[in-house]
Amino acid sequence: MRNGCLRTFVCISMSTVVKVGDRDDSNLYINVKLKAAEEVLKHIMSLNEDSTVHGFIVQLPLDSENSINTETVINAIAPEKDVDGLTSVSAGKLARGDLNDCFIPCTPKGCLELIKETGVQIAGRHAVVVGRSKIVGAPMHDLLLWNNATVTTCHSKTANLDKEINKGDILVVATGQPELVKGEWIKPGAIVIDCGINYIPDDTKPNGKKVVGDVAYNEAKERAGFITPVPGGVGPMTVAMLMQSTVESAKHFLEKFKTG
Ligand code: NDP
Repeated sequence: MRNGCLRTFVCISMSTVVKVGDRDDSNLYINVKLKAAEEVLKHIMSLNEDSTVHGFIVQLPLDSENSINTETVINAIAPEKDVDGLTSVSAGKLARGDLNDCFIPCTPKGCLELIKETGVQIAGRHAVVVGRSKIVGAPMHDLLLWNNATVTTCHSKTANLDKEINKGDILVVATGQPELVKGEWIKPGAIVIDCGINYIPDDTKPNGKKVVGDVAYNEAKERAGFITPVPGGVGPMTVAMLMQSTVESAKHFLEKFKTG
């Protein structure tokens, strides 16, 4: 954080180049790419070393036109400034239950807050997470596990998804598949957290499309005890959690500075 505001660094390009031959035009193109990749890592290093910056994120996904090693870019972030919680160090700590010693990815962190807000005890409940991405599904699994739920994580190869989902007292869905989860799959009274953001055609809208979640909301709300809408549910929480993690990071740096 600098001058009280979060600086978002957007990564442009990071690529590995396999070159055959020695064409001048190729060489020029490759040099430009390599320079861009070097710039990205250099910029991350300088943010790591800048004592006035207490946290920063690399906005994903990275440039999709060139092959990009996202892991290399993300893992260049110093873990103590990784407010998005996406480095392997942060993920490892979360997976091992060291919740107080790592940053937690903002979307699952926000989902957990929403679940806690219902007042329903998490410990001992059966939680079902649909999706296992590094950004949402996998850390959500870890968070629920270390909050003492019994967790099932589903993915695109899960058999009988409807039956798995029906076991969930708590259901978190992050698949990117519009209205994948049908109302009748949901356990009556369940807490349903829908992370999905999907655009589908809608002729009644001026721009010809509308946003829906991964859960068929109108059906699901008839069975769920609690349910988040899309838009307006998980999305705003993600932003709030990023701000919270950044403030926590700044406090942590200040404490360290005070104690020498
Ligand atoms: P990814 O595409 O990285 O991961 C999707 C996951 O869903 C994968 O694990 C995939 O399984 C699983 N999946 C896909 N199709 C199915 C299916 N038919 N049945 C069961 N599982 C399935 O997506 P993200 O996790 O990054 O994002 C998920 C959604 O959440 C998106 O809509 C995204 O826009 C939204 N999102 C919202 C945020 C917010 O702030 N509200 C922040 C981040 C994401 P497999 O691993 O087998 O491929």
